[in-house]
Amino acid sequence: MEVSRELSDVQKRVLELKRERNALILAHNYQTIDIQEIADFVGDSLQLARKSGEGTGYDMIIFAGVKFMAEMASILAEDIPVYIPAPKALCPLAAYVSAEKIRSMKEKYPGAPVVLYVNTTAEAKTEADYICTSGSAVEVVEATGASTVLFGPDANLADYVRNKTDVEVIDIDTRGHCYVHRQFDVAQLVLLKEEYPNAITIAHPECDPDVLDAADMVGSTGMMAQTVANSPHDTFIIATELGLVEQLQAAHPEKTIIPAYERAVCIQMKKNTLEGILDILENLPPEKLVVVPEEYHEHIREVLQRMSKVKGQGSAKEVRAHS
Ligand code: SF4
Repeated sequence: MEVSRELSDVQKRVLELKRERNALILAHNYQTIDIQEIADFVGDSLQLARKSGEGTGYDMIIFAGVKFMAEMASILAEDIPVYIPAPKALCPLAAYVSAEKIRSMKEKYPGAPVVLYVNTTAEAKTEADYICTSGSAVEVVEATGASTVLFGPDANLADYVRNKTDVEVIDIDTRGHCYVHRQFDVAQLVLLKEEYPNAITIAHPECDPDVLDAADMVGSTGMMAQTVANSPHDTFIIATELGLVEQLQAAHPEKTIIPAYERAVCIQMKKNTLEGILDILENLPPEKLVVVPEEYHEHIREVLQRMSKVKGQGSAKEVRAHS
């Protein structure tokens, strides 16, 4: 991202070593601003997966996000080593769906394709027929051509897809949710909308259904960033993790970006730090190298490629647009 303020000494050192090591730094939208400022690319999980597949020419990739994202990057980057600053940054949502759980659901619903949200472990992905992001879930489920699909781990995203398609969407685990996005409260959102009557409200599909109903638009973080950048509106209420809100406000100082809940912080994402990135560049610590069992690669690469053929670039449907 464009930086308007003076970089810190640690940031300058990271940029210096990044050049020396010929490293590509990818950062998720939920990372802190100091990391976003030194990253080569900041985006949502789909955008970052695509970038890691295009990393040819670099000697290493540093992926600031949660582990399942770094695992995808490692598979797509093929021979380029991928490091994660915080190897213990695990997405709790991903923990709801194991490979074993998927296998038992397949036995219960034989023939129903398995559509997994990217927020799953590499092991779970080996049981997937399709993988989707929040921005492509509707299109991917429709592209299966099936009347019934098994879907997981996010029950709110499943509900969103159910409402947008004629497909019977069966939750692999009805408890699956993101604790960050579940914090948004519809009553609080209604109050904010009253306070800012001209604001456009955009909510992430991991939010509860009543929050999505109250929002003007629903979409991934990539879609939110594009909307704020391209919209003539100047005030937005954003219902997703705070890192994106901070990014949007820094990128668009002329606009007003209001968090729908100012404590919506993903502790796992925030385990990545600038110092953790510096440590990788200085020491190449082996425990920060992302290793995905070789036997998982072929299948995961295949389902990821299938996903990229389906329309969806981190954007989602507009539910209700202000004039
Ligand atoms: S914001 Fe939610 S879905 Fe995203 S990494 Fe954190 S816990 Fe997982």
